[in-house]
Amino acid sequence: MTLTDLTLTEAQTLLQKGEISSRELTQAHLERIAALDGALHSFLHVDAEGALIQADEADQRRRAGAHRDAPLLGIPLAVKDVLVVDGMPCTCGSKILEGYRPPFTATAVQKLQAAGMVILGKTNTDEFAMGSSTENSAYGVTHNPWDVERVPGGSSGGSAAAVAARFATLALGSDTGGSVRQPASFCGVTGLKPTYGRVSRYGLVAYGSSLDSVGAFGRSAQDVAAVFSAMSGRDELDATSQDVPVPNVDLRLNGERPLRGVRIGVPQEYFIDGIQAEVESAVREAIRQLQGLGAEIVPVSLPHTQYALPVYYLIAPAEASANLARFDGIRYGPRVTGNSMWDVFTKTRGEKFGDEATRRIMLGTYALSAGYYDAFYGQAQKVRTLIRRDFEQVFTQVDAVACPVAPTTAFKIGAHGDAQHFDPLAMYLEDVFSLPANLAGVPGLAFPVGFDAGGLPVGMQLMGPHFGEAGLLRTAHAYQQATDWHLAKPTMEDGR
Ligand code: GLN
Repeated sequence: MTLTDLTLTEAQTLLQKGEISSRELTQAHLERIAALDGALHSFLHVDAEGALIQADEADQRRRAGAHRDAPLLGIPLAVKDVLVVDGMPCTCGSKILEGYRPPFTATAVQKLQAAGMVILGKTNTDEFAMGSSTENSAYGVTHNPWDVERVPGGSSGGSAAAVAARFATLALGSDTGGSVRQPASFCGVTGLKPTYGRVSRYGLVAYGSSLDSVGAFGRSAQDVAAVFSAMSGRDELDATSQDVPVPNVDLRLNGERPLRGVRIGVPQEYFIDGIQAEVESAVREAIRQLQGLGAEIVPVSLPHTQYALPVYYLIAPAEASANLARFDGIRYGPRVTGNSMWDVFTKTRGEKFGDEATRRIMLGTYALSAGYYDAFYGQAQKVRTLIRRDFEQVFTQVDAVACPVAPTTAFKIGAHGDAQHFDPLAMYLEDVFSLPANLAGVPGLAFPVGFDAGGLPVGMQLMGPHFGEAGLLRTAHAYQQATDWHLAKPTMEDGR
């Protein structure tokens, strides 16, 4: 038995029987990271010592008998480096936060710690979660475990790669425009972006505050469901978190056709020219399988889909330009000295922000400036409402919609250019199918449904109505009980 291959459910069974300890499980993951993460660079910070202490505490709690049913007790977790954890550095993939050690812990992380999870460390991300490839990290790119010449997706590329490479049983990410779902798809793992307001954003370094959500990666819908339930819920420290009951997702399935009665919409706007043929065929095949499991397949339309990209790339940079104003060299991170306060601000920000963050700050500031506000930001907000209404309308007809996560499988590192000749628009196009869920605030779930001819994973996305995560997880679970794409494992350099 390879401890790092265990899913959450398998590990939990062995922990409960006393056949393995959390220390052994944690140690196995730490050893695998030490041996193999050199080739991937999925972690920015590994806290081996702290993790073993937490593991011992979990073992003690278990011995004390008080937590027999605790599904997450003693399970290793990786955390994207945009969520603060007391005692660990937080860089957000940026030089402007180099050396910053936050004095508090994000609510989502705190809840998982309380449930007994063991935090292994912090994972790589595009700078301030701005990107779709993890190439925008100031600390170097993360490589895809299926093909190290390719990106893992982004911005939560480190977390997705870590779960795919069996460095962590589960991982947290953030999703503002696809940053959990797209890397999940590129790395062949399951990733959930919950409803906006479902999980507290307290302690998540803000990017686009009206779009940001904390999400989770695992190797199955079942594993993700456990983390989702444990980290969700109203939090007084985040005024936008909602007081909606959090389901303990019921994954028991009945019979040969467990999806009987479930209506799944297929939006025509998500099957467009330019999508990789193998992505389309794998997703269409998966939809047929859902039908075989009893679901009713219904063609639907989300007519404003084509506006999601321009709307997102106004709203997200506008909010980012305001959110990133706090990084001034005075309050957090390193400072470049200057002759005056303004000189310090300008030099610190000019030297420490990377190109993409700078581009977004400039775009966002322009879109919000007097005289342009109505034409850009105001207009984008109106179209956003139309996009949200599309979803509200569709969810009166169906329980979920099924579509691709991204138009392609993982692309080569550097495919959209390097620092000198970067093509931002080509990169932004990676997000066409993932941005609408954030604009509408609805949940989205990505999970593997096949491979392309090059052996790279293909992901499918299910989106559901507000607070409808349980339905998405059940549907994906039914699919994963009937298929085994989610069990496929990349071969790492040591052949393990
Ligand atoms: N790729 C998108 C962007 O660059 C989404 C990122 C995210 O979800 N954090 O903004």
